[in-house]
Amino acid sequence: MYHGDCPHAPGAMRQQSRGIVAEMESITPGARHGLLHSLDEIRRLHREANQDLSSEIKNCIECGEITSREVCQACTMKQWLAETA
Ligand SMILES: [Zn+2]
Repeated sequence: MYHGDCPHAPGAMRQQSRGIVAEMESITPGARHGLLHSLDEIRRLHREANQDLSSEIKNCIECGEITSREVCQACTMKQWLAETA
């Protein structure tokens, strides 16, 4: 049995998602601007929402933003968009 380089491994999935985003951005620069603006807005709102929380403060493993989860909402949405593009 061959176990190396499984195409469904998390690392490979992540790289594939990044590739799709890069491709999408190169094809539609306008869409990229709108997407980034939306993500900035989500981050801002999320940061304000987290100001009152003194417990469960973590940093997003993707972008380092303060979040109550492993991955912040902005990055979760980004991944979702990449996977469904
Ligand atoms: Zn993030």
